[in-house]
Amino acid sequence: MIPLPSSTEVCIVGAGPSGLACALGLAARQIPFVIVDALEQGHNSSRAVLMQASALEALGALHPELSAEIVADGIQSKTLTLIDQQERVVFRLRMTDLERHTKYAFSLLSPQHRVEHRMREYVHRGGNSIHWHKRVSSVKEVAEGAQYELRFESGDVLRARFIVAADGSKSFLRTVAGIPFIDPHTKKAAGPGPNDLSFVVADVLFEEPLPTNVPRDALQIMAGTNGVVLTAPIRDSSPSAGGDRAQNLFRVYFGVPDIPSRSPDAAYLQAILDARGPGSHSALHDVPKIAKVLDSARYRTRMALVDKYVHLAQGGAYILLVGDAAHKHGPAGGQGMNMGICDGCELAQAIDEHRNAALTAGTRHDAVEILEAYSTRRRAVARKVIDMVEDMTQTEKGGAGWGPYFRLTALWFVFKMPFVNSLAAWKISGLGHAKKRRS
Ligand SMILES: Cc1cc2nc3c(=O)[nH]c(=O)nc-3n(C[C@H](O)[C@H](O)[C@H](O)COP(=O)(O)OP(=O)(O)OC[C@H]3O[C@@H](n4cnc5c(N)ncnc54)[C@H](O)[C@@H]3O)c2cc1C
Repeated sequence: MIPLPSSTEVCIVGAGPSGLACALGLAARQIPFVIVDALEQGHNSSRAVLMQASALEALGALHPELSAEIVADGIQSKTLTLIDQQERVVFRLRMTDLERHTKYAFSLLSPQHRVEHRMREYVHRGGNSIHWHKRVSSVKEVAEGAQYELRFESGDVLRARFIVAADGSKSFLRTVAGIPFIDPHTKKAAGPGPNDLSFVVADVLFEEPLPTNVPRDALQIMAGTNGVVLTAPIRDSSPSAGGDRAQNLFRVYFGVPDIPSRSPDAAYLQAILDARGPGSHSALHDVPKIAKVLDSARYRTRMALVDKYVHLAQGGAYILLVGDAAHKHGPAGGQGMNMGICDGCELAQAIDEHRNAALTAGTRHDAVEILEAYSTRRRAVARKVIDMVEDMTQTEKGGAGWGPYFRLTALWFVFKMPFVNSLAAWKISGLGHAKKRRS
């Protein structure tokens, strides 16, 4: 194990997608950094499955081969289809409308841990290590010089001018910086409430034959009276994969009224499919049968956003927020990891510009403004994405009565207009939020 140094310029706390993206951006600019994580090694849990063009473009600007490898690991979902419980197509969003703007004119279906694995490989190829099993337990400003001192549970001590808080939604560093996590609608501190979303996620192997109403090459979302049922095919990368097994592996997301008390098992998941999954209300198709559950988890989440991403200590050291440490929302539209990767890439650029401004004729004021601009820009992006995710969540939730019925009917109607499709694909891709990159 490589020991932690006693000082560095940038310490990235958290080796999830946001921290890794920032590490890749700093490495590309030869800015010294250390990246640490409390875990013993990268996680394998069922979280994100959908990656959008903006994150692939951001990583591709640093390492074109990295994006190519991530794409090769996944399935290119060229459409995103919303169906109602009777399996009528409400809309089939064509991501291919983005072809004029990007070579990634699709949503990529690939498990988050596989994307992180690729990103870690590139961090290592750049000659940098990830320091696992290093939980930051306290942070204080150093009296002399613009630095923070980080203490770890392992007993290590590290000094850094910039701390990148990539430590997820329960961010310890956000608390150290005194930045509250606010519910964007109530404007109060985000906490448990009636609008919390509960859902279960599982990687399942379906029995053969798979009913044809479960697409093997694209994402499908079913809005029903009791919540969403989403099926996303994923590649089976295990050495034993082959034949039917490779084709019948799916990640499923089910909205549920209350999260189960333990990891959902096959019986729990199958009961949801039987009640409101594909085939449950159709005389034409059977309900897909689960042969095996490979992994499952349950989540409860809520919307939250910070009012600033940057904390400047009196002496001139910084805590800079990226990813879930700064924003949190439900999984609809697959935006969280995506936005975190773009935050991380943009922050690396802002740190570089800040250093250049501080070294050249610029005043300290100019340098500070660069990081403030990062904060303002990324917060505005997060706010827009949270609003979009909230709209999508309302649609996906379905529900009984006239309200949900009119919502789906209105969507069916407006998606008949080609420009609505292009606009929706553009919004989901996140391409409109990209900042012009200098390197
Ligand atoms: C069920 C589910 C489905 C999702 N689906 C999608 C999707 O399809 N598409 C999408 O884009 N997003 C999706 N998301 C969101 C996505 O998973 C998150 O937005 C993403 O993981 C955020 O990355 P991050 O790097 O900011 O934080 P995290 O991934 O949470 O990483 C934070 C890291 O910080 C480390 N850490 C925490 N505290 C400390 C400490 N004190 N010291 C050292 N290390 C510390 C943790 O160990 C962790 O590794 C989904 C999320 C869930 C839960």
